[in-house]
Amino acid sequence: MISYQHSLKELNSFGIAAQAEAYLALDTLAKLSLLRDWRERPNYILGGGSNILLRGDISGLVIHNQLKGKRLIGQDKDFIYLEVGAGENWQELVLYCLANNWAGLENLALIPGSVGAAPVQNIGAYGVEFSEVCHLVQAWDCKYQEMRKFEQEDCRFGYRDSVFKSVYPGRFIICSLVLKLRRQPVFRLEYGSIREELGEQPLSIRAVAEAVMRIRRAKLPDPKVLPNAGSFFKNPIVSKVILDKLLAQYPKMPHYPQADGKVKLAAGWLIDQAAWKGKKIGAVGVHDRQALVLVNHGGAKGKEIVQLAEAIQQDIVKKFGVNLEPEVNYWP
Ligand SMILES: Cc1cc2nc3c(=O)[nH]c(=O)nc-3n(C[C@H](O)[C@H](O)[C@H](O)COP(=O)(O)OP(=O)(O)OC[C@H]3O[C@@H](n4cnc5c(N)ncnc54)[C@H](O)[C@@H]3O)c2cc1C
Repeated sequence: MISYQHSLKELNSFGIAAQAEAYLALDTLAKLSLLRDWRERPNYILGGGSNILLRGDISGLVIHNQLKGKRLIGQDKDFIYLEVGAGENWQELVLYCLANNWAGLENLALIPGSVGAAPVQNIGAYGVEFSEVCHLVQAWDCKYQEMRKFEQEDCRFGYRDSVFKSVYPGRFIICSLVLKLRRQPVFRLEYGSIREELGEQPLSIRAVAEAVMRIRRAKLPDPKVLPNAGSFFKNPIVSKVILDKLLAQYPKMPHYPQADGKVKLAAGWLIDQAAWKGKKIGAVGVHDRQALVLVNHGGAKGKEIVQLAEAIQQDIVKKFGVNLEPEVNYWP
């Protein structure tokens, strides 16, 4: 059931050609017992491969999560509790919730990838984060070979961060989630151009999701056409002191105050100002409509994307004194 020298080229949205020493399609919980022999070796947990960068071949086991299923496990007058297998596709889940008129995921429409990866980086878009709909995460602990339950607060969600990403990378295989969805929507329309896109049409979760999908299709390259992993860098968070210095020089710089008094800057704006948008270097480049997205123009190696990312990071430090941290996970 474990295969060897398995190609990962079709399994990552950057389309990088690389091999896994060993590969397991995890489509039943019974197969978790196969992991015992690999306890001492590096484990890489793969979903849709839309947020990883393969820097080279993988020495160790790639566990490809394909655990499926959706089950309504509870409801009350306000909420629906839906259990979902980690190997389900995120966008299909969004459409399923829309069809049932369950609210909460509409702003997160069209994010590529699997359900199980959503808690890892606490996916977010258009002013909403996964943490807001998360009730429970069930994950296999590779260290102690047992199932663990994480309540919402145990996940320590942050901006593109969680306990699974920053405290225990590779230790927990998320097998299923319980989402807490609303019967009555709470619309979030203040972010981006959702309001303009909606125009005069009557407000509904479907209308919001469709507006989000139209905006995303217009702005973001489809990885099937132009391989990429979405936003390559996180938006940097800086102190008010640094912000004031930057605003003195760049009065039009977009910035978003955070609850803790710090300020979020727009990484895409910084990269655009530094004239990287649309640049092409060999097989890699920066997308011409969205400066935050690095692309593989064909046949790129992971190392070339890393080199481009590092050149951008150095330039942004030089020009603005700001560090850009990758949002994409580097493997290995
Ligand atoms: C065009 C495009 C647009 C995007 N837009 C957004 C956006 O708006 N907002 C956003 O937040 N992200 C966005 N992304 C990034 C990506 O879609 C998300 O991070 C998504 O959740 C990744 O899912 P995946 O299944 O492809 O994860 P993978 O790329 O397979 O894995 C990502 C990380 O999660 C870990 N992981 C995956 N599955 C599991 C599991 N079951 N258990 C434990 N760990 C696991 C992996 O080990 C890896 O570290 C975008 C990507 C693309 C290509």
